[in-house]
Amino acid sequence: MAEVESFQLDHTKVLAPYVRLIGSETGPKGDIITNFDVRLVQPNVQEIPTAGLHTIEHLMASLIRDRIDGMIDFSPFGCRTGFHMIMWGEHTSEEIAKVIKSSLEAIVTVVEWADVPGTTIESCGNYRDHSLWTAKEWSALILKRGISSDPFIRKVI
Ligand SMILES: [Zn+2]
Repeated sequence: MAEVESFQLDHTKVLAPYVRLIGSETGPKGDIITNFDVRLVQPNVQEIPTAGLHTIEHLMASLIRDRIDGMIDFSPFGCRTGFHMIMWGEHTSEEIAKVIKSSLEAIVTVVEWADVPGTTIESCGNYRDHSLWTAKEWSALILKRGISSDPFIRKVI
């Protein structure tokens, strides 16, 4: 089996919420992509309920793209403690943490149910499993704790 970087990370040593640069890779034509671990809650202590996590995922697809160019993907971890984010080009964890913070602020203060994209049977694989209320509550909690640009030392941006 191939070694996977995130399984080498000691999940008992991290201090969430944080953004961690996993690494960058250069493709055969020279294009660079960077991977980030966007950990919103403390591993093995809490997890975001599925419906709220699902709504955060749908909202972030637009909110992040409104704030930064080059996002390829923002997908929830199966453990429900955060998201994997893939970007074109080189970016720092500080830069990404600021984008995540601003996007979560929008979820708490701006977003209404009508703003949540892809909540119909045609546009989502499990359209009944959404909760904007849960998304707002957890976004507020994460912002209250503050997002660090370092996974091991609290460097709240
Ligand atoms: Zn969906």
